[in-house]
Amino acid sequence: MSHKITDECLACGSCLPECPVDAIAEGDDVYTIDAEKCSDCGACVDSCPTDAIKPA
Ligand code: SF4
Repeated sequence: MSHKITDECLACGSCLPECPVDAIAEGDDVYTIDAEKCSDCGACVDSCPTDAIKPA
């Protein structure tokens, strides 16, 4: 299991420093979460202003 970032992402970058395992990266249009690295901790969820980070 991992979290994922939906199309609602504004690419603001606020989630990036919240991830303890460095699973979030800047993609082409939206930020992405590496499912292999994500530990499903949920630490990034509340940092998103558009609620774009969801459990996958
Ligand atoms: Fe990182 Fe936790 Fe968000 Fe997964 S759920 S991307 S481990 S902060």
